[in-house]
Amino acid sequence: ARKFFVGGNWKCNGTVEEVKKIVTVLNEAEVPPEEVVDVVVSPPFVFLSLVKSLLRSDFQVAAQNCWVRKGGAFTGEVSAEMLVNLGIPWVILGHSERRLLLGETNEASFPYVSLNFGNITIGRILDWNNVVLAYEPVWAIGTGKVATPTQAREVHTALRKLLHDNVSPEVAASTRIIYGGSVNGANCKELAAQPDVDGFLVGGASLKFLQQMDQSSEE
Ligand code: 13P
Repeated sequence: ARKFFVGGNWKCNGTVEEVKKIVTVLNEAEVPPEEVVDVVVSPPFVFLSLVKSLLRSDFQVAAQNCWVRKGGAFTGEVSAEMLVNLGIPWVILGHSERRLLLGETNEASFPYVSLNFGNITIGRILDWNNVVLAYEPVWAIGTGKVATPTQAREVHTALRKLLHDNVSPEVAASTRIIYGGSVNGANCKELAAQPDVDGFLVGGASLKFLQQMDQSSEE
């Protein structure tokens, strides 16, 4: 069975104080053990060290982007090697916000693999155990419009078939495919029950606690 994977993508949000508050809440949260679920939070670069130093050891930290080639004269970039050096085991690559808002392309953000329907290029993935695929329909991101369980299942099943036909049956069976786009506490259960949905990448709802705190402090 594939281990469930839940990522919180904080996007471009947070202050030092807010980050500390979120981590405190996460550290007290009751979740299944790490053998059952990978819980990964993805703060902006500037907070990676802080989050890593404060976060409970059964949760992991991800960057939201990185420079995928060797470091050097690339002003403003953070290389994958630097993330490894910092002990950050995960990175989100090729998020649609980077594509839509910053003009990022498959070649730039993920030259080793590009998975588009009907057009798959598999490059140098050394170990597929290190890869989690996220399906995030752009119309569902930040809109409150979540994919139906059937929609998510159909796409995840199709993605798995792509892996099966283009990589190997073993990789198709073991690679986690997670859903993102307006996932929250109310809709996650039904989505998680779909056979090919192996977890979530959560944006807004992963910071909902902060908004609630803001509201209660205003009251
Ligand atoms: P929302 O959960 O806010 O729709 O964001 C999803 C997302 O883009 C996660 O990477």
